[in-house]
Amino acid sequence: MLEQFIKIKNSALAEIQSVKNSAELEALENKLLGRKNGELTNLLKGLKDLSSEEKKSVGQAANDVKQTIESAMAEKKSELARAEWVKSSEKESMDVTQPALPSKSRGHFHPITLVQNKLEDLFASMGFMVLDGPELESDYYNFTAVNIPENHPARDTQDTFYIKKHPNWLMRTQTSSVQVRAMQKYGAPLRAIVPGRCFRNESTDARHEHTLYQIEGVVIDSGINFGNMKAVLEQVVKNLYGAETKLRLRPKYYPFVEPGVNGEITCVLCQGKGCRVCKQSGWLEIFGAGLIHPNVIKEGGIDAKKYQGFAFGFGLDRLVMLKYGIDEIRVLKSGEMKFLEQF
Ligand SMILES: [Zn+2]
Repeated sequence: MLEQFIKIKNSALAEIQSVKNSAELEALENKLLGRKNGELTNLLKGLKDLSSEEKKSVGQAANDVKQTIESAMAEKKSELARAEWVKSSEKESMDVTQPALPSKSRGHFHPITLVQNKLEDLFASMGFMVLDGPELESDYYNFTAVNIPENHPARDTQDTFYIKKHPNWLMRTQTSSVQVRAMQKYGAPLRAIVPGRCFRNESTDARHEHTLYQIEGVVIDSGINFGNMKAVLEQVVKNLYGAETKLRLRPKYYPFVEPGVNGEITCVLCQGKGCRVCKQSGWLEIFGAGLIHPNVIKEGGIDAKKYQGFAFGFGLDRLVMLKYGIDEIRVLKSGEMKFLEQF
């Protein structure tokens, strides 16, 4: 019986050496050590019929044989695995100039936030506070306090969403709602901007949205004049659209300023030559502004004889659309990845 073990060991070791791949090795392992009909397994099963003395000598040798075969198998197995790995990696083409794949996809700021941050930095450098205000606002702060009393026609142009059973509460239509809040809280002199979300109850199209972003500015001090206002706004548009951008102010009526103006810049798309976006005029309207109406200053609890001020309001969505050449406002809040990934 001992000879049988030696014989099986020798042939097994030779066979292991000649194996060419892991499938062959697996088949050989099964042939020798398979639990049901493995050659070595069967031989080992025969040990139980030996006398106890034979068991002692043969058993020890059988165990050695089994271990030798098993470790030769294990060695062959890892040798084959290494060889197969090298072979498969040689097959893959490798381009060393290929950029590393991103390990994770990372988010980034929305274009509206990018422009808002830029403006906040600019205004902060000019000594402005950055203020916040409630989106659910009272009728008083949104309209009455900024010189738009009940039944004033300007209310018709700013329809919004009202709260059921609370007729005095509404979703603010403009960040101007924070003007009087800021005056009441901080008094004069005052320099503040208010970026934020506003709402309009209107049907949407390429240029209109029910939810929009504005940035309001308010300055109160003694001896404020129109020139101060123009100087600040010139800085803003040059910072946003480049030093060569020109600004012009044209009279326009807003209830909370007197006089009021429309701020227009040289068209950023055609550089003033005239195109579809600027309706061939070469100018684009980007904000409303003016000297604050004394009624509004009084409403803020400030002496309107001693202090004057100016205010301005930008539509952030419009600034973003012009900056990046976007002609459809609704994509801004669409959550569309194809659009957002461009920024
Ligand atoms: Zn143009």
